[in-house]
Amino acid sequence: MSDIAAQLAVVQHRIAEATARANRPAGSVALVAVSKTHPAEAVQQALAAGQLLFGENRVQEAEGKFPGLRPAHPAMRLHIIGALQTNKARDAVAVADVIESLDRPRLAVALAEAMAKTGRRPDLLVQVNTGDEAQKAGVPRAEADVFIRACVEEHGLPVKGLMCIPPVEGDPRPHFYLLAELAAKHGLGVLSMGMSGDFEAAIACGATHVRVGSAIFGARPYPVT
Ligand SMILES: *Cc1c(COP(=O)(O)O)cnc(C)c1O
Repeated sequence: MSDIAAQLAVVQHRIAEATARANRPAGSVALVAVSKTHPAEAVQQALAAGQLLFGENRVQEAEGKFPGLRPAHPAMRLHIIGALQTNKARDAVAVADVIESLDRPRLAVALAEAMAKTGRRPDLLVQVNTGDEAQKAGVPRAEADVFIRACVEEHGLPVKGLMCIPPVEGDPRPHFYLLAELAAKHGLGVLSMGMSGDFEAAIACGATHVRVGSAIFGARPYPVT
């Protein structure tokens, strides 16, 4: 077994245990394997171990890795999880099955245009800056209600849920609960929250998708936010 297959099995096991501890149905939490900075061969090892769902931060990096793998793995799905520039909206719509980083009106407009032009409609998640951190992507908490409604009602976007990255310091659970409440309020079913360091807490708070990178693929050769 490869290291990646072994680490994937450990993470899957921890997800199953955390799901059971939360009295949630088995299989109700999906694992997005975050392969950013790691080569296509690492993705291939995960695919060989049965992993089908992947996450990448950068559109350009995703374009270099994933289209070549699709013919052999038609069930594979790619989530774009990193901050998205407006001028990359069209490329993101072309390469992704889900875009998790919708966080501002100009991007909503750009994605709506890209979808109209290409006919592709990847599912979208609104990223909420639950800690209202100046350096972090995501719609500020106070603007989230209005923004989510505008995405759906004005722009006709296929918003399916919410995503957050809590502050590095401190207990992430208040952030996870806040996101869960906001999703429930808007009738959104997908909650993408939890990374290598806190995915079990996120599952206890209702995550439907956890985004786990280093616990599967090892330390990243260079930092990416
Ligand atoms: C890198 C990244 C992850 C995975 O982080 P790990 O700590 O390596 O599990 C999850 N979500 C986002 C948005 C990321 O950028």
